[in-house]
Amino acid sequence: MVEEALTERATSVLLADPCFQLRSICYLLGQPDPPAPGTSLSAPDRKRFSLQSYTDYINAEELAQVEQMLAHLTSASAQAAAASLPTSEEDLCPICYAHPISAVFQPCGHKSCKACINQHLMNNKDCFFCKATIESVEDWDKVANTGTISSAT
Ligand SMILES: [Zn+2]
Ligand SMILES: [Zn+2]
Repeated sequence: MVEEALTERATSVLLADPCFQLRSICYLLGQPDPPAPGTSLSAPDRKRFSLQSYTDYINAEELAQVEQMLAHLTSASAQAAAASLPTSEEDLCPICYAHPISAVFQPCGHKSCKACINQHLMNNKDCFFCKATIESVEDWDKVANTGTISSAT
């Protein structure tokens, strides 16, 4: 259970890091993903670097763990890309990815940061995600804390 939670935590941290790239791990494992342009590893005679070549230092079990993690990350990032809704209140605004989510639209319940929705509402009244007409914008903290949605402004 603890290990699973750690994996989830690591996954969300890695996927939230804009510098993290799955191809980096693919590359470490010697999987077919070309190195970034500019690296000098592509000399004709040089064997491609792969963790699989270093069995003295990395045993099969460890290698399997890395491969497992890669598979997990691959599916998690695919899910994250496919999901249109944030999965936790810690998520960043899905519009700008610069601010945390701070506003909930009524009545559809979709979310963004206040900067995005305030700017959007100057010209539009439809939800970014489902195009429902937004009647009001609630404070995300308030909605999250009370668990209820009030129509008061
Ligand atoms: Zn935003
Ligand atoms: Zn919506």
